[in-house]
Amino acid sequence: MAKFEKEINSAAELILASKYLVAFTGAGISVESGIPPFRGAEGLWSKYNPEVLDLHYFHRNPKDSWRVIKEIFYDFFGNAQPNSGHLSLSKLEEIGKLKCVITQNIDNLHQLAGNTVIHEFHGNSQKMICTNCSKHFTVTEVDLSVLPPLCDECHGLLKPDFIFFGESIPMDAYHASVRAAENADVFFIIGSTGEVMPASQIPVMAKQHGAKIIEINPEPSKYTHGLTDIYLQGKAGDILTQIVNNIILNHQT
Ligand code: NAD
Repeated sequence: MAKFEKEINSAAELILASKYLVAFTGAGISVESGIPPFRGAEGLWSKYNPEVLDLHYFHRNPKDSWRVIKEIFYDFFGNAQPNSGHLSLSKLEEIGKLKCVITQNIDNLHQLAGNTVIHEFHGNSQKMICTNCSKHFTVTEVDLSVLPPLCDECHGLLKPDFIFFGESIPMDAYHASVRAAENADVFFIIGSTGEVMPASQIPVMAKQHGAKIIEINPEPSKYTHGLTDIYLQGKAGDILTQIVNNIILNHQT
């Protein structure tokens, strides 16, 4: 704690003075919920072949893709719960400070934590869509015991409603994220390498429009040395809890 006391205080003061706080989250915020990031030694792609999330491969090999997708996103991650990082962001919304979350994650944990304004840049694994007739499903409506799952209306192939390699960003989420970045006066970057385009440009837009950047990541990212104003080197759950406790204990909100 002593290591960061000054930075935590500075972050808490910035947040308290802010009019429009936005959080941009990457895979790192969900690591403490047991969901590994894609990259790095412990990342998913050290165990699985990313081609299962390539759109062309998926359409040519739906059963093979679905077998791996089910194992990763529904068997392995299916029961993950929000951690203290997600819950801290929910608390910041509850006390009227956090205006929205822009997330690259597809794990639905910000929703489970209680945040209500969430721009899902890459979609959500808890939703599915028919690749033929575009009917939407929630995961609980789909039987994954027979793969690949098919649409109950037209028998088309179902696909998780998150973006695969080769797909474009959902336009409504993109535009809402750009607007939030432009409006932000304080902007969190939490657990993101900054390597995934075009999501990685959203914090850059926030900075260009005058936002102060607070970054939380155990490892420096592409943002740390060029964009970030306050760098808190550590785990999202630990650091966000300290910031929220500081705000609640030391300041009247
Ligand atoms: P990334 O996989 O490229 O990097 C993860 C980052 O999190 C790294 O910088 C790492 O240092 C940091 N990190 C690790 N543990 C952390 C912790 N406890 N607290 C804070 N930070 C921590 O992630 P990315 O930049 O978000 O991009 C990967 C893409 O993969 C995203 O587009 C996302 O859609 C997808 N993805 C999502 C999930 C998920 O939904 N949980 C999981 C894996 C990948």
